[in-house]
Amino acid sequence: MYRTEILSITNMLITELEEFCISIGEPAYRAEQILSWIYDKGVAAFDQMSNLPGDLKRKLEEKCQIFQTKIGTLIKTGDGTEKFLICLSDGNEIECVLLREDKRVTACVSTQVGCAMACRFCASGKRGLERNLTTGEIIEQVLHCKKHLLPNERLTNIVFMGIGEPLTNYDNVIRAVKIMNAEWGLGIGARHITISTVGTLNGIQRLAREGLQLNLAISLHAADDITRSRIIPSNKQTGIQHILREAQKYFSITKRDISFEYTLIDGVNASKQDAESLARLLRNIQCNINLLPLNPIEEFNFKPPYRETVNTFCRILKKHGLTVTVRKKKGDTINAACGQLRLRNINFYGKNEKFFVK
Ligand code: SF4
Repeated sequence: MYRTEILSITNMLITELEEFCISIGEPAYRAEQILSWIYDKGVAAFDQMSNLPGDLKRKLEEKCQIFQTKIGTLIKTGDGTEKFLICLSDGNEIECVLLREDKRVTACVSTQVGCAMACRFCASGKRGLERNLTTGEIIEQVLHCKKHLLPNERLTNIVFMGIGEPLTNYDNVIRAVKIMNAEWGLGIGARHITISTVGTLNGIQRLAREGLQLNLAISLHAADDITRSRIIPSNKQTGIQHILREAQKYFSITKRDISFEYTLIDGVNASKQDAESLARLLRNIQCNINLLPLNPIEEFNFKPPYRETVNTFCRILKKHGLTVTVRKKKGDTINAACGQLRLRNINFYGKNEKFFVK
């Protein structure tokens, strides 16, 4: 059973835990010991923290919890991808994915329950936004992934590309980034953390001023406003040119390259003409372009293009001197496109009912 009335340690920065330790009559340095057990050693129970006195363990048991979430479903594929459906304490569900590619082991985390952006090719936006995730609910996705690493593996990267638009849950996302990045936390370098956005302008502006060396990925998916607004409704308010202007400012402040994500959808944005338009749009911007053939979703009519169409699109961008990577589709046999597993669970079982295959 979850104890929602008490403090969740995964929500807390070290300074806050130090203050808490002092408030219960303990020295501040206990905070670092507690966090080391959770983030370094992956311990999930206070009674396993062997360097803490019994009295402190009892106080922690009484007033705090380590995990406020648990894994409901875990599905694995042959390509090393593992997808977790995570149960939250209020009965909601989110997803996170552990992806393996060569030596790179990446946790892809969600930031909201549902999403208000309603992108037309994405399962997450289909039922709208229910609520923001807390910092702890974001951090625990990474902890769940870490528990499933192989003995010789370590988590190298974190991407905020799961359910939700991270920059509309700004404060909780930045707190989570600080915990991921901190030596007392998960110890992942900021350059190995990527925040993906459809283009929340004030969020990009705030992020640029954080003084963090985070990677920014912009989900562009079209080179003109008419096509983009058709598949990403929020583009009607932002517009591509405003997003690109903020992206360039982000680059000039942080000196971090920008990535543009471009999901290729047959008959929508994958023609030779679309490739030429994209090349014109991005030719003066220091960036990488990631092409992703669409993960097809039963609930939508969109389809991925044929491989030759993807190759032609890529060749045109390269001919214009752009840096392009075609991302392999990973995990589509387990509904690993964002929000698909959660949506499928809701469709089959109704919200708040869980199925367990673990
Ligand atoms: S693609 Fe991202 S921003 Fe768009 S609906 Fe899905 S989760 Fe939200």
